[in-house]
Formats: sequence, structure tokens, C-alpha cells
Amino acid sequence: MEPQVKRLKGSLYDSDSWTALPVLSDDQSQDIQLVQAYAAPIVNKRETSRLVRELNLRYPLAGLQHIKRVRACKEKGSPHPLEVLVCLVSQVPDSKDATTDSLFSSEGVRPDGLGELFVVQVPSRPPLTRPQFELASKHWPTSFHEDKQVTVALKGELFSSAQKANMHGHMMSAVAAARAAQELGMEAVGAVVVDSATQRVVAVGHDCRRDHPLHHAVMVCIDLVARSQGGGCYSFDKYPECRFTAPESSHDDRVCDSNTGSQPYICTGYDLYVTREPCIMCAMALVHSRIGCLFYGTSSADGALGTKFKIHSLKDLNHRFEVYRGVLRSQCEDLNRNRKDLEN
Ligand SMILES: [Zn+2]
Repeated sequence: MEPQVKRLKGSLYDSDSWTALPVLSDDQSQDIQLVQAYAAPIVNKRETSRLVRELNLRYPLAGLQHIKRVRACKEKGSPHPLEVLVCLVSQVPDSKDATTDSLFSSEGVRPDGLGELFVVQVPSRPPLTRPQFELASKHWPTSFHEDKQVTVALKGELFSSAQKANMHGHMMSAVAAARAAQELGMEAVGAVVVDSATQRVVAVGHDCRRDHPLHHAVMVCIDLVARSQGGGCYSFDKYPECRFTAPESSHDDRVCDSNTGSQPYICTGYDLYVTREPCIMCAMALVHSRIGCLFYGTSSADGALGTKFKIHSLKDLNHRFEVYRGVLRSQCEDLNRNRKDLEN
């Protein structure tokens, strides 16, 4: 038994020692973009409805439906409690000398009730996450259609203790497989495929690049899943840590593909646990095999699910899946400590 196994709390068996965080799309994770706009205080509150109506006609905020036209003044004690967004700076031909009067020289808006123009920054796109919403709202009030699951996931609170215990156990199996590969002189990467509905382990695999340059742990695991279904291209029988279990009955009770009504793909309804962020080849193989959800322990310099690319969130691909990183992070980092900087 390895010495670490005896250290229970804070180590191998303590699922509180790690946090699974979502790997979101670029749109969800990037900083908010801002554009300059003119705003003005509403000096006569009774004109508010008319001003908003006329401004919406004269200076419609195309593509900025998330922006609220009127906000409460941020300065406490201001004589004018409301401010209105007049237009984008880019909507004004000669923006240097813009004044309230020059903006409304044409027909359409009576500037009565508006004070001096000032420039503000407003978010150019609707916020997709709560952190983006909170940042955006510091600039100008913005509407937000919250995805509660993303909010909870970003706090690291999506998974219950029971779920984390399962995840912990599966990633422990992946770590054990990675160590077996390392002892055989191969890359220390391990992977486990699990039926998400029953938590049954379908396949465990590890890096086998000594035999074939494309036998990354994820590729090995997908082939083992195919073997469990009567297919597969390779044999990994000489490696005891590479294994699969056939379904308990000959009947595959996974759901059919909802789009085509056809039989499940290789990994429909299955989750994958892998110690290190997959490379682009492995990530694409996971797209093609229709993996359900992916968990990895630690990032990789060439990783395609968060570091270099976010293959799982590309809108142009016909399958997308959720990715979480950080499961047993420190144990997975330990595996990589002495490795050469090869792709996963
Ligand atoms: Zn790979």
C-alpha cells in the first residue's frame, strides 16, 4: 500500500480537498467589452416617458437590447435622480463637439428636460454569467438572463457531497491507471469512462504510446468502450490496468440519439474522467463519440478543453458537452510533475 493511502483527511479520500469548476466558452469567460455612449441627466422627471419614447425612435440602440435606457443617478444627493442613455458616440457624425442641442437639431426629439451630455461606457454584449453581469452593471444597468446552473458551478457548488464522492472514486481509478502507465515508462495519464445514470465503470485506460503514437489515454479508453460494445480496433489485454466491463445484459438501455432516433453513439450517456486535460485529437474523438460530460484533474499546455482551445463549446460542431476541471487536482498535478512536456 502506498504511504499516501493512510493519510485520509486532506488527501486521497477527502473530496473537500478539491473543487470542480466549469470550463466555460470564450463568450462566457471573457471580460466584458465596452462601448462609449452619451448620457444626460433628466432634469425634469415628468419628461422621462416622452424622452425615452423619442430617443428610442431617433437613436435606437440596435443590438444593445440588454442596456436599460434609464438609470438612477449614482451620485447621492444629486438634484437629478435619473439619467438617460442618449445614443452611442459612434452614432454621432462629429462627436467632438456634441451637445444636447446639436444631437437633437434634427426633428424627432425635444431636448426639454435633459441636462448636459456626458460620456459613459456601456457593455456592448449581454452578460452571460453572473461575474460578467456584476462587472457590466458597474458601468450601466443591464438585463441578465441568468443560467442558475452556471452561477452555482462557478462558485464550485454544483455537485453534492454524494456526487463528489463518486467523482473522487472515479478520478482515483484514473490516477491509479496513470501510475501504472508511468511504471511501464509511458506518460502518466489515466482515464475512466462511467455510465452517468448508474455510475457503473465502463472502461479504464491509460497512456499506451509505447505501442502506438496515437494511443493517448483518452483514445485507449474510447477503444475499450467500443470493445465493451463488441467493436474496438486494438487489444490492450497485456496491460492489466486497461480494462472494460460489458453491459450487465445484452440490452443496451441507453437512450437513442434524440436528433436522429438512431442507436446510441459509443459514448452516449457516458462521462469521462481523465487526469490531464485532453489534446485536440482526444477532444475531437470525444466529440465524435458523443461523450456526455468530461472531468479532468489538471490543465495541459496543449489542452484543447480550456487551455489552447475550448472544443467542447464550439458552436459549429454537432456535439457539445460540459467540461469541469480540478477533480483531484493536486494528485493529478503530482503525476505531471516530472513528465516531459508532451501533449496529452
Ligand atoms: Zn490526446
